[in-house]
Amino acid sequence: MPKDAHDTAADVTAAAPSTPAEDALRSRIQAEVTALRDSFDAGTTRPLEARLAQLAALRRGLRREEPRLARALAEDLGKSRTESALTELGVVSQEIAHTMKNLRTWQRPQRLSLGAMLAPATGQLRREPLGTTLIISPWNYPVNLTLAPLVAAIAGGNIAIVKPSEVAPATSAALTHLLRTHLDPGWVRVVEGAVAETTILLEQRFDLIFYTGNGAVGRIVARAAAEHLTPTVLELGGKSPVFVDEGADLAVTARRIVWGKFTNAGQTCIAPDYLMATPRTIQRLMPHLRRAVRAMYSGKPDRSLDYGRMVNTKHFDRVLALIDDDKAICGGTDTADRETRFIPPTIMQGVDWNDPVMGEEIFGPVLPILTVSGPDEAIARIRSGDKPLTAYVFSPRRSVEERFAEETSSGSLALGVTLAHVGTTGMPFGGVGESGMGAYHGRTGFEAFTHAKPVVKKPLTPDTLRFVYPPYRGMKRRLLRRLFR
Ligand code: NAD
Repeated sequence: MPKDAHDTAADVTAAAPSTPAEDALRSRIQAEVTALRDSFDAGTTRPLEARLAQLAALRRGLRREEPRLARALAEDLGKSRTESALTELGVVSQEIAHTMKNLRTWQRPQRLSLGAMLAPATGQLRREPLGTTLIISPWNYPVNLTLAPLVAAIAGGNIAIVKPSEVAPATSAALTHLLRTHLDPGWVRVVEGAVAETTILLEQRFDLIFYTGNGAVGRIVARAAAEHLTPTVLELGGKSPVFVDEGADLAVTARRIVWGKFTNAGQTCIAPDYLMATPRTIQRLMPHLRRAVRAMYSGKPDRSLDYGRMVNTKHFDRVLALIDDDKAICGGTDTADRETRFIPPTIMQGVDWNDPVMGEEIFGPVLPILTVSGPDEAIARIRSGDKPLTAYVFSPRRSVEERFAEETSSGSLALGVTLAHVGTTGMPFGGVGESGMGAYHGRTGFEAFTHAKPVVKKPLTPDTLRFVYPPYRGMKRRLLRRLFR
């Protein structure tokens, strides 16, 4: 299949399919969902040991299929094997290991303190599986963003239908092979495809839809979910800002920003989207940024084995159109190559807030630098836009860091670091507002895929509730009025 064949996916608002081929597709998908639902109803996924066994099977499969997955990631995104290990398979392996180690503790009912009014009584918070879940994933970290939610789904005792992104077709095929070969079809099934398949999937009733991708499709997912009152986790994107304060260590700051921006050729939801600093800091930072690019990707990034490619020509064209060569102090359109979908690491200075590059999430290897008068203006700029997925601050001043924490809202705030914070199982990962809703990773993922059910138990004797039964007269009325004032 040509790489761009499905590429209009996000642009299409699909009508309900009705041709015989589409009816056949609908029947096939309905059969998959029904089979899984039956399996859930039979209790297959509830026992803790069974969940751990599926997670172990996933871990084995991941190890066994590593070469196939790495080849696919190289084909789709030009990812080096090391980068794939670091940002894709490694993240999933960590999630599995952490989950397997802690699942028993997470699953243990928590005691609730119910207060004197209900005494004598005991309370528990029990985590129960949601049921049939749907995981729809994007193309930029196609292994990580498909399997990390799946780990949480399995840990929670759910069954899952997985819909990988058609925009990374080689990885979609490799994931399908992995899941069909190594996991129990009573737990996990894959539906490959694009809009038609996803639209039919979204017609079905799920108990949770976990979607990662852009906000336009996020809205389609949320609308479809509303039909069945299905909860959603929406992991979306947006423009994640960076503020570099005066006095920051610029050599390290530059390296961290360059790494965060140009990993996966900028096709990272939490990539620093644009950089703000005062003119003086920009002037000092510039040589460090250039040096960091050269140090990481050499003077010829097209030959670097560690530099990725745009996923397809549509995204190549889109990002290339955002580059203004007159403002590029590094990279630019000259060496870009449509054939190989290569765009060099590009840094643009003197960018205006109204330039096209500031009109949308860049999602490519272009870093615009904008002048601000200081933290006040940077904070005001962030507040005036959509709430970002992550905000980055490099500052030697605790007071400035604290101001960003208090005065701006974002999915997460990263002080002195880029990207690495989403690789840890110890931190929830998710957006707020336009950048999404809900979160996962580690325990948060387990919680996202379970219902916290409070269970209360009160002995029948003594019948202390006698005091609240009507009729309310005399002493009883006076007492209750005083107690519940
Ligand atoms: P994409 O095009 O692969 O779409 C994501 C999924 O939505 C795919 O599985 C696709 O088949 C499905 N889809 C596309 N159009 C659809 C339609 N009309 N109806 C139903 N389903 C449809 O990926 P993308 O959206 O281009 O991904 C990039 C975006 O995702 C960026 O905005 C990025 O910031 C965001 N993102 C967010 C995270 C996160 O964790 N928050 C991670 C990665 C990417």
